[in-house]
Formats: sequence, C-alpha cells, structure tokens
Amino acid sequence: MKEELKKEIRDLASRGAPVGIATILVGEDFGARMYRKQVERFCEEMGVAYTDANPPADTSEAEVVKKVQELNADKKVSGILPLRPFPEHISDYAIINSIDLNKDIDCFHPYNMGKLTLGEITFPPATPAACIEILDREGVELEGAEVVVVGHSNIVGKPISILCLNRNATVTTTHIFTSMAGNLEKHTTGADILIVAAGKAGLITPKHIKEGAFVVDVGINRVKVLDEQGNPVLNEKGKPKTRTVGDVAFDEVKEKAGKITPVPGGVGAITNMMLMRNAVKAARIQNGLM
Ligand code: NAD
Repeated sequence: MKEELKKEIRDLASRGAPVGIATILVGEDFGARMYRKQVERFCEEMGVAYTDANPPADTSEAEVVKKVQELNADKKVSGILPLRPFPEHISDYAIINSIDLNKDIDCFHPYNMGKLTLGEITFPPATPAACIEILDREGVELEGAEVVVVGHSNIVGKPISILCLNRNATVTTTHIFTSMAGNLEKHTTGADILIVAAGKAGLITPKHIKEGAFVVDVGINRVKVLDEQGNPVLNEKGKPKTRTVGDVAFDEVKEKAGKITPVPGGVGAITNMMLMRNAVKAARIQNGLM
C-alpha cells in the first residue's frame, strides 16, 4: 500500500495537485504532540508536505477558527487534521465545523459523519477504515457476519459499527455500561469478528472469545513491564520500564482466536496508511482529478 500511495503522490505532484497534510494543535498536550510527531514523520517518509499549525493554549477560539480558514485556503494543504484535546475555552465543534468538507481527512465534520451513516462516504475515518481494510485483505466476509464492537466513542467505536453495518454485518455495539451490567461476555462470545476499542489493557481474555473468531485489537495502552514475581522492571534511570499493548490479552487469546491483530504493528500501522489515502483523495477532489 505504501509503495502504491507513494507512486500516486508523485504522480499528483507532477500534475500540479500536491498532497499535503496540516495538523492543528492548540497548546502543548502531550498525547497530541506525540501523534503530531508521528504524522510529521509519516509525511516525510511518504514525500508529502507537512504543515504544523500550533497556536499557544491561550489563543481565542475565533483566532483558531481563522487559522483553520487559512489552511482551508492553502493550496499546499489537501488535508487538515485537528489534534485534540483543545483547551477548555475552545469548543471542538467550532474548530471541526470550520474545516473545509473536502479537507476533512479523518471524517470529523458532522456533515461527513452524516454521509458515513448514509453509506455515502467521502473520507472514511482512518482507524475504523483500517479495521475494515485488514478484514478485507484477510478475505473475511462481513456480509451476514456477527460483528461485536467493544467501545462506542465518536471517533472509533461508533464509526466502526456504522462501517460494518454499511457492509451488511449484524452489528452489536458494547461499551462500559455493557460491562457494568455484567453482559460483555454474553455478547462477545457470539462474535465471528470482535473489534475492541476500549483503551483498557487485558480487557478481553479467552473467556470472551468464540473459538476461531477474528479479533481486531484497536486499543493502545502503556503498561509497566513486570518480572516473574510481578514486580516492575526498572530502566537505567531507575524508572519503571513500560511497553505498548492492546486491549486484548494477546498471548492467551491467540490460542483460541482464528486470527488476531497485534499491538503494536496492527491497526495503528494501517491507520497511517488510511489517513494518507484520504489526503491523496482530497488532493484529487480539490484539483478535479477524481
Ligand atoms: P474513548 O475513551 O473515547 O472510548 C472508550 C470506549 O470504550 C467507550 O465507548 C467506553 O464505553 C468503552 N469502554 C471503556 N472501558 C470499557 C469496559 N471495561 N468494557 C467495555 N467497554 C469499555 O477511547 P477511543 O478514542 O475510542 O479509543 C479507544 C482505544 O483505541 C484507546 O486505547 C486508543 O488509544 C485506541 N486508538 C487507537 C487508534 C489506532 O490507530 N490504533 C486510533 C484511535 C484510538
């Protein structure tokens, strides 16, 4: 996919339709900065212009909206990615609603989300699209399949559920209140395809899985590395070592699942690719090259 996209990016540049991504981060949130770095590196690797809009945390909402409008008008920017959280005095909707619909490459705008629900998708949101891409490339049939999604956030769980529904799967969306009612296992054990996006390490264990199910783990969690006695392993600075894991207890579940995506190296890696695919599509739309 990477090579295919690189070729398309070069081809579009030679036709005067450059692909470019801008992030907009207000202030210095740590997680958002990490994500920005990742986007910047990936743009560099793909030969795509990257624009960093980073007004300070005390910038007024009106000023941030103005910044978005400048990016809307900038021909070098084909896609705009707002990095949340924004400071408290700035409403998510004020920023997201001001993004040009044809530059909304992670499908945040309510209009594009509405189109997603109707099955008329311009830009499939990157992480949900990555889940579908993995299933498609593994030859998993969604039509008629029992899909259970764990998580119902606006950016991951809900759009994944909708994308699967659009593909005629039978979809059950579960969330924290399903767990609190003691019903999570009842639903997940019925899944042919289990997609987990809860942000809770070790949430899904073998008892939650139907034998042979396809498990897609979206979760990203940092956990302490423990030794055999269960004590934290320290690094050279005397601080606990950490590692990245998903929401699924990978080693145990892989014995029961038919297939399972790893973390890291699973959905996250494909998400970058989906974002770039949307930025390429955006450049095509903006230059009348569809
Ligand atoms: P969020 O906190 O907005 O939503 C979490 C969802 O999980 C909620 O719907 C909540 O009800 C549900 N949940 C939490 N605890 C639960 C439990 N015990 N049982 C059942 N449901 C539970 O998080 P998000 O933004 O949707 O992200 C979810 C996870 O996916 C996080 O780990 C995040 O880091 C990761 N993520 C990964 C990618 C990627 O590219 N791989 C992209 C975005 C998010």
